[in-house]
Amino acid sequence: MSLKGKVALVTGGSRGIGRAVCRELARQGADVAVNYAGNEAAAQETAQACRELGVRAVVLRADVADAAACDAMVAQVLEQLGRLDILVNNAGITRDGLMLRMPEADWDAVLDTNLKGAFHCMRAAYKTMMRQKSGRVVNISSVVGLRGNAGQTNYSASKAGLIGLSKSLAKELATRNVTVNVVAPGFITTDMTDALPEGAREALLSTIPMKRLGAAEDVARAVAFFAGEGAGYVTGQVLCVDGGMAV
Ligand code: NAP
Repeated sequence: MSLKGKVALVTGGSRGIGRAVCRELARQGADVAVNYAGNEAAAQETAQACRELGVRAVVLRADVADAAACDAMVAQVLEQLGRLDILVNNAGITRDGLMLRMPEADWDAVLDTNLKGAFHCMRAAYKTMMRQKSGRVVNISSVVGLRGNAGQTNYSASKAGLIGLSKSLAKELATRNVTVNVVAPGFITTDMTDALPEGAREALLSTIPMKRLGAAEDVARAVAFFAGEGAGYVTGQVLCVDGGMAV
């Protein structure tokens, strides 16, 4: 229960990796704010699972691409749970396709959600963490942000951008005892990867040295490490949870 008394906000906490992160942080004792974009029933299920682990949990709807909504969401966390110690920027989308045929709207949607969304949430939480002289920010990037992937120029740009953003913010907030780290998952079983065509799945599997997909819980444990006491002197780092893909 190393996170007892801490409050975490997890964007995209309704499903997949975000849900597993909410549950892991709750299991370790943190109260949790579960953010979602449209799927309220799933967000409520996540929150209920957290409550069953003995912590407080609230559900907050906000499109992370909307700056004002993120400001309001952080204000609600402070109002409803009293503080904010851990911010996990996990909300993310894909709009895959070759660049030649990529509509500008698909580029913008992915960058606005995955990269600008994290900026909005970090900026909204900045003063609170700076003033309390403690905080943990964990951003969910991707192996694709490190290595690139044909058909995912928008997604990999957003995930690579998240790494640069995290390293810079880590330096900006280091003297305030606020750490900013990145978890870069490989190929994890969630709705996002279930949507991949069979051929693409097979091709991806062949690039994983461990020859199997990861589970959302594998990523959640890495996030909890960065959020926990043991990682107090670790900042600006990228931890791949990918079965060896990025090696
Ligand atoms: P997922 O199953 O598709 O879930 C996406 C989550 O993000 C949902 O909770 C969704 O909320 C939320 N979301 C989407 N757009 C949002 C917005 N504009 N504002 C707020 N929330 C929004 O995805 P996942 O596979 O768990 O992925 C989670 C993160 O890990 C993403 O950043 C993804 O890029 C990254 N990642 C995943 C993999 C993988 O293999 N799965 C690999 C590397 C990185 P609703 O339920 O309300 O729609």
